Amino acid sequence: THFGYKTVKESEKEKLVADVFHSVAAKYDLMNDLMSFGIHRIWKKYTIELSAVRAGQKVLDIAGGSGDLTYAFSKRVGAEGKVVLADINDSMLKVGRDKLANKGVSGNLEVIQANAESLPFPDNEFDVVTMAFGLRNVTHKEAALAEFCRVLKPGGRLLVLEFSKPKSRQLSKMYDFYSFTALPIMGKLVTNDSESYKYLAESIRKHPDQETLKGMMETAGFSRTQFHNLTGGIVALHRGVKP
Ligand code: SAM
Repeated sequence: THFGYKTVKESEKEKLVADVFHSVAAKYDLMNDLMSFGIHRIWKKYTIELSAVRAGQKVLDIAGGSGDLTYAFSKRVGAEGKVVLADINDSMLKVGRDKLANKGVSGNLEVIQANAESLPFPDNEFDVVTMAFGLRNVTHKEAALAEFCRVLKPGGRLLVLEFSKPKSRQLSKMYDFYSFTALPIMGKLVTNDSESYKYLAESIRKHPDQETLKGMMETAGFSRTQFHNLTGGIVALHRGVKP
């Protein structure tokens, strides 16, 4: 990839991710509530609190999809600030754009189609970058993390909310059963698409654990990195600061 071409496996992953999110876009919000029993709202609320976003700031919500975080940030930054909702997938972006328009968000909002691996923004642009449940879908995670560091202002913060590794063996077993058995069935019933939810379970299992991701953020240039386990480590919120 350093020479500008991709291996077959890499382009396959990109196509798979694109297909998954084109397929689930229309039912995405409903499925989130069903699959997490509504708990994703609490995870996101925690992310918003920890972001400490203030009026007048500039925020990038990358892989923002249907715009849950974007919506909360748009209220926080106010008329003087700006939120960019960016996602690689135009079906997801359309759902996000329509939802935000229905909720009356405008003025301080920009919607942009972009790949996290190469962002169309200048250096030192944002106070906060957030990525919720997006990183595990990215093929070159190191490249994406380096991009987040580049577009942040010095002192700016990155928050990555993502599935992670459950702390206890017991919880891990229950969770595996849930994600590999119940999830695809739910996916089939609601979206008539069990394959996408199989992808979801597999992508979660393959994603780097808490310590590994923390190390990757440091390699990408972040300092003061830390993570908080949520729901027993089923999800983790990683934080880092651009020096
Ligand atoms: N952030 C939203 C949320 O928490 O509800 C959406 C999360 S959704 C599970 C994952 C999103 O990541 C999808 O909208 C998908 O299109 C997007 N995505 C996947 N790969 C991406 C990439 N390389 N760059 C930007 N977005 C990407």
